[in-house]
Amino acid sequence: MYLRLAQRLASAAAILLPQLCLQAGLIWPTPNPAFQNGQSIEAFIQSTASGVPESGLFGCVRSSGARFHEGLDLFPVDRDRSGEPTDAVYAVLPGRIVHVSKTAGHSSYGRYIVVEHDQQVPAFHTLYAHLASFGDGIMVGARVDSGAKLGIMGRSASYSIPRTRAHLHFEIGFRLTNDFQGWYDRQQFGSKNRHGMWNGMNLVSINPLDFYESMRQGQVSDLYEYLKLIPAIARIRVHTADVPDFVKAYPALVTRPYAGKPLVAWDIAFSQYGVPKEWTPRFAEEAIDGRLGDVKILAYSPTLLKQQDCRRVLDMGGTKPKISSGTLSTLKKLFGFK
Ligand SMILES: [Zn+2]
Repeated sequence: MYLRLAQRLASAAAILLPQLCLQAGLIWPTPNPAFQNGQSIEAFIQSTASGVPESGLFGCVRSSGARFHEGLDLFPVDRDRSGEPTDAVYAVLPGRIVHVSKTAGHSSYGRYIVVEHDQQVPAFHTLYAHLASFGDGIMVGARVDSGAKLGIMGRSASYSIPRTRAHLHFEIGFRLTNDFQGWYDRQQFGSKNRHGMWNGMNLVSINPLDFYESMRQGQVSDLYEYLKLIPAIARIRVHTADVPDFVKAYPALVTRPYAGKPLVAWDIAFSQYGVPKEWTPRFAEEAIDGRLGDVKILAYSPTLLKQQDCRRVLDMGGTKPKISSGTLSTLKKLFGFK
């Protein structure tokens, strides 16, 4: 009797599981069902003035491939009488609100919210930009469930977005350092950092649409698996005995234990667009060459680098690849290099 019940439960689970696994609590950030319905990007991606749908995707999609767009632009499906969007913007997973920027002119993101998904491993964040207004109870520290209404889609920004191109700019990513302010002060920008460590310059992102597609196809069941799946474009060794904030914030990205060991370097695998996605600590007993402060390219993919017109982790100009200015800036933030 008991066995039969167990068997019945098992078969019920087998029916339910594929659906649960595919979704894993992850929802789409807007009410537009087009992606879930398998429609093409024209049905949900907001293009730039070019009118080319790809210009609203993640990647080297702007200025003929020369300029990077670090998120997805999603258009509204409902508008009020004056043509402004009325679509709600939803938290895509449970988490904690870590940043709310209320003044449109303080960022090119306009009014934006960052949610840290602290129950995920690694605890990545999602970012929701250009909002018209915020939902009830939206404040730093508030917990949100998957599907919580964060606000209303809009077109707020430090520049002007026409009503016809109002959209949600959506990112999935990681913050490089908790001491972003230290880096910011050293740059002498002459303006105030109003976003703490949730300033866009401190954030690195993955391709949200590719992640959602991989989830939908069942290729991966979470972001951790997705990071394993995407290729490393370069491996860079940094000689230091320090443990960066990034490693402490995302310990799941470290390949082996380092506590109590004599750390001499980190071998870091970078994704195509510069996410330091895998960290291998190196120890004194391994007797690797190099001195404190050395930065070395260990390996790279010429094929992938050549395919890319912007945001390259390495520059391929000369005979030998060089660390790009973008990667140098990332390393400065990660390690506090001056
Ligand atoms: Zn955008």
